Parts: sequence; C-alpha cells; structure tokens
Amino acid sequence: MIAENLKCILKEIPAGVTLVAVSKTKSVSDILEAYSAGQRDFGENKIQEMVGKYEQLPKDVRWHMIGHVQTNKIKYMASFVSLIHGVDQEKTLLEIDKQAKKYRRIIPCLLQVKIADEDTKFGFHPDEVATLLNSDFLKKLPNTKVVGLMGMATFTEDTAQIKSEFHFLKSLFDKWKDTYSWTTLSMGMSQDYATAVASGSNMIRVGSKIFGSR
Ligand SMILES: *Cc1c(COP(=O)(O)O)cnc(C)c1O
Repeated sequence: MIAENLKCILKEIPAGVTLVAVSKTKSVSDILEAYSAGQRDFGENKIQEMVGKYEQLPKDVRWHMIGHVQTNKIKYMASFVSLIHGVDQEKTLLEIDKQAKKYRRIIPCLLQVKIADEDTKFGFHPDEVATLLNSDFLKKLPNTKVVGLMGMATFTEDTAQIKSEFHFLKSLFDKWKDTYSWTTLSMGMSQDYATAVASGSNMIRVGSKIFGSR
C-alpha cells in the first residue's frame, strides 16, 4: 500500500520536485516499507521522535525537520538533520549555528513564512524576512545556510485562496532566489500538493496520502 501510494504521487509530480514523506507518528516498519520502495527523504515534526527513528533506520535516509523547532532540542538533531524547514525566529538560527559548529557542518535551513489566514501557523511575516535578509545577521552564521522558503496554506476547501497563498510565497522566493542562491521552495501537503506544484513548489511534504490517516 505505502509503496503504491508513493508510486502514484511520484508519477504525478515533475522530476525536479522532491517528495518528502512525512512519517510523523508512523512506525519504523512503515518507514522501512517506504525506504524499500526507494524513498529516502522523510519528514518529522518532533525532534525527539525523529532522533529515535534516525537511530533505528539506515543512515542514508535524509531527515527533514518540518515542525516548529524548539531551540533547546536542536542539539539532538544537529549531527544528522538534512534540512530544517520550520525556522521562524532569529534565535532559532543562532542556536542551529552554534550546534552545527560543534559537528563542523553547515546545516541547510528554510525560513518559514506565514502565508495562511490563520492564527495558529508559525512563520515569519514577509516583512520580517526582508528585514532579516537585508541585515547582516545571516552573514555572522557560517554554519547555517538558508536555502529557501517554506510555507503552509490555509486549511480550507477554497482552492482559489490556497492558490493565491502559494503564488504569493513563490513570488517571495523568486524575488530573492538569485541573490542568495536559493534552491528550495517547500510547499504542498497531501491535500494541496498538486496546487503547490502548479504554483512552483519544488519540495512537497506529504504524509497521510502515503502512510494513511494519523
Ligand atoms: C503533518 C505535516 C505535513 C503532512 O501533512 P499531510 O496532510 O498528512 O500530508 C506537511 N507539513 C507539515 C509542516 C506537517 O506538520
């Protein structure tokens, strides 16, 4: 089932789009089933859960932290995390840099931008992203590399609204991508990844459509 779901999704999306299989709350054996089908990028939203799975799974898995990042837990994932999607505060960047330094590595990150019309979603306001990029804050963090943006659309049936939110995030990405050599625009989940890809996403985070409902 998991393998078939993966195959279906991969058939639908262009080759340049990376599929992150969101395995939060799912078992190691579910993840292994996806791994056996060739999947290597997995997303988790809790650092400790990700660390536990990292320890049990093959070391060529690329682990994506897609949830809100608790600063005091960054140290547990700093040695192995592939990409941190949910960076939404300067203090998170400071701590990522500090921990990355300990492992002599550079940790790739995405700035999460609040695009949804909801109070609950984390993220920088677009103006805050501009301020951050125009300051020399990031230049002082040699072990952290911002490689793009991440966003979540409003949870709604209104496709036009979702589309407009994704288009907005894509326009921000395009505005800065050449200047900062950005590579990654992470947007789209089970319900809206087709819209996200049509809007220019090149990384989708899909959970329930692969592993079933949580
Ligand atoms: C859970 C989660 C997903 C995946 O959600 P599905 O609807 O199951 O595809 C994607 N992104 C984030 C940030 C999540 O927390």
